[in-house]
Amino acid sequence: MMKAVVLLTTLLVAVAAAERPNLLVFIVDDMGWQDTSLPFYHDAAGQPVTTALNRRYRTPHMESLAARGMRFTRAYAHPVCTPSRITLMTGKNPARHRVTNWTSPAGVENGDNDVKHLRSPEGWGRTGIAAGEKTLPALLQAAGYRTIHCGKAHFGSRGAFGQDPAKIGFDVNIAGNEIGHPASYFAKESFGKGSNHVTGLEKWHGQDLFLTEVLTRELSGAIEAAAKEKQPFFAYMAHYAVHSPFQADPRFAKNYPGLPKPQQAYASLIEGMDRSLGDLLAKLDALGIAENTFVVFLSDNGGDAPIPNDKAKPVVAGNAPLRGKKGMRYEGGIRVPMIAAWAKPAPEHGAQATLKVPANSRHDGLVSIADLFPTLLELAGVSGVPPFDGHDLRPALKGGPSTRPQRLVTHYPHGHNNDHFSIYHEDHWKFIRNHADGSGELYDLSKDLAESKNLATERPDVAAAMSEKLERQLEGYGALRSKRVDP
Ligand code: CA
Repeated sequence: MMKAVVLLTTLLVAVAAAERPNLLVFIVDDMGWQDTSLPFYHDAAGQPVTTALNRRYRTPHMESLAARGMRFTRAYAHPVCTPSRITLMTGKNPARHRVTNWTSPAGVENGDNDVKHLRSPEGWGRTGIAAGEKTLPALLQAAGYRTIHCGKAHFGSRGAFGQDPAKIGFDVNIAGNEIGHPASYFAKESFGKGSNHVTGLEKWHGQDLFLTEVLTRELSGAIEAAAKEKQPFFAYMAHYAVHSPFQADPRFAKNYPGLPKPQQAYASLIEGMDRSLGDLLAKLDALGIAENTFVVFLSDNGGDAPIPNDKAKPVVAGNAPLRGKKGMRYEGGIRVPMIAAWAKPAPEHGAQATLKVPANSRHDGLVSIADLFPTLLELAGVSGVPPFDGHDLRPALKGGPSTRPQRLVTHYPHGHNNDHFSIYHEDHWKFIRNHADGSGELYDLSKDLAESKNLATERPDVAAAMSEKLERQLEGYGALRSKRVDP
């Protein structure tokens, strides 16, 4: 009898373990909303619109992943790297975790001070993630997951807590440290020298391989090792691509003849990143674990394509039809491509039975990078963790109406591109507070996605109400404000 009870208990544990899905987050650096052949833009009637940029880029594996699940046409991240990445790891809005700007390897302030009388707040998280944060990988690790970091970390500066991904809960760290971009994408150049040298890939030095491919091979190996030991895993594939330096991926540059050199290189970085996605999906399939692996694809901020400004209008063509680019308060700075799907749809299979994501579906509601924290924890069966500023996206992922509040605060009290601003999104309205001169901007994104007509004067009622909600929410977060100095 005793033996039977023990056997039964063992079986139950085994079943529970088998049903826990593997998680793959595939995050691209600085990839814009339109840097793909997959349309994320649709017209007023809801019909997908293929833009000039969609026609330029080749991302067949993103198309394939979207066909397996859901694309999110209105996903937001922070305007720059580190804040978005720490938000993904903690579920906290940057105004709450206080790493509101990117961290430099040396832990010093970036010197971009276009607004003469404002500086970054005292006490912002200049060296990165705070030691006390309960992170997504640490929580999954405690629940029995193998947690694998691959690529760009950028959670904190050299010598700070967040420098080493192992400190925030990753069992395995491949090539992640304090840097925000590689000195070189080429293994032949040992991935560059100096403070942006990519560490931990010594065995590849001298080979004729591109960093994107090296990371793909490394992560494939780590996933295979976890699968062999039948341990559920959380794999965080954080590509250095498509961040500058815009070095051409030699495998794909020939596909973009006629483009200026930096744009050709950029397009090849995108196609290389997409090939990595395809290779990883194929690997999951070959290992027989694709049905049990949930994949989220996204970028960490708006696009930074080397496509010149149209000086006549303040619209950067690199993110058209959106206005602005990485770092900016306009949609081009913060709206990112996002896809979520099971690597191989099998609706009655294991964990998929509890989260059936309709094939080739689309969600047009507002979602945030913070939402991955509760969504992935719930999917892994880790409950009881405060979601902070994220919202569980599972209802939306099932194709139901969104239960996520259609509101979002973005807070950037620093100098860079567009300086010192806070944003409040609510439904189709967007309000921007410019801290440099106190001015406000109001846009109706349902009619004016390009943010060409500031309605702040025409609709003072809406602007005032949104301004008040923005202030109240910033106070709730304990947000730090730009510091006034004598110019
Ligand atoms: Ca970035």
